[in-house]
Amino acid sequence: AAKESGRARLAAYHPGMRRDAMSKLSVEAELRTAIRDGQLVVFYQPVVDLASRRIIAFEALVRWHHPSRGLLGPDEFIGIAEEANLIVPLGSHVIHEACRFISTHPDFSGRVLVNVSTKQIGSADLTRVVRSALTESGVNPSRLGLEITETGMLMASHAAKSDLEALTALGVDLVIDDFGTGYSALSSVLLNPVSGLKLAREFTLRLGDRSTGDRISIAMATLTMSLDMYGVIEGIETEAQYALARRHGWTYGQGFLFGHPTPEELITIDTDGTVHVPTGDRGAGLAVG
Ligand code: C2E
Ligand code: MG
Ligand code: MG
Ligand code: MG
Repeated sequence: AAKESGRARLAAYHPGMRRDAMSKLSVEAELRTAIRDGQLVVFYQPVVDLASRRIIAFEALVRWHHPSRGLLGPDEFIGIAEEANLIVPLGSHVIHEACRFISTHPDFSGRVLVNVSTKQIGSADLTRVVRSALTESGVNPSRLGLEITETGMLMASHAAKSDLEALTALGVDLVIDDFGTGYSALSSVLLNPVSGLKLAREFTLRLGDRSTGDRISIAMATLTMSLDMYGVIEGIETEAQYALARRHGWTYGQGFLFGHPTPEELITIDTDGTVHVPTGDRGAGLAVG
């Protein structure tokens, strides 16, 4: 019940309210400084193999250690970064960090998935950024995945399409994020070289509703398999959701049940590759959800 009311509060809160109040320009200036001075840090949320519950990948999620406002989540600054043309340097920082994470944890054999926004694909040479991050860190391209929303895929310009193709040719995975919530879900799969998709948390919240929620989950898991893609179900918070996700045929999952977004220093990796993150409620991340 506490979770429900928390969610209701989040839904009622509009990020634009605070953004307008504090003057976008000052946030822009601060964000510029933040990128330069290393105030942006990357947290890592586990992706697990549902059958074994072993951590097989991480999603990189950016946070801002703001000097006076504390730890800020991406919803407070990604939009501003996009408008202020700061998303390219911000995104480049995250891609470099993700590659550095992989190269400094040789016992970790999984992938790191990095979120990229359309503007990164459209306005800058994402392929060049990715290639230089891989080269600098000596990381194999197959260890990196890029998450793009289906709307982002749709909006990607013609030039951006060739960027996506070049990235795939390089051996980097493209993954559709928040699948099912954007426009033209299926054409994003048809028109792009996609290797995986992540079912949006909106659907996970409806697991247990036999008339629609469960049927959509089953249909999406089946679609994923039919297309030879890998599927990740997002936002698993309860054992009941976990059990249903497995029953519906999902292979991989992500959510607070398995681990919050975690600062790198709290992650340990055994020599056999087993990954440990702190468990327990909101162990490490922001107090979201
Ligand atoms: P996303 O890529 O869909 O990431 C999932 C979001 O859901 C994350 O929020 C994560 O903390 C949260 N989450 C994960 N599991 C659960 C769960 O079980 N329950 C609930 N309630 N939430 C869960 P976060 O970190 O606040 O990120 C929000 C969005 O910001 C991301 O959504 C992504 O679109 C964007 N983002 C994050 N990092 C970056 C980045 O480096 N670059 C860009 N362009 N966007 C980013
Ligand atoms: Mg994502
Ligand atoms: Mg997502
Ligand atoms: Mg999202």
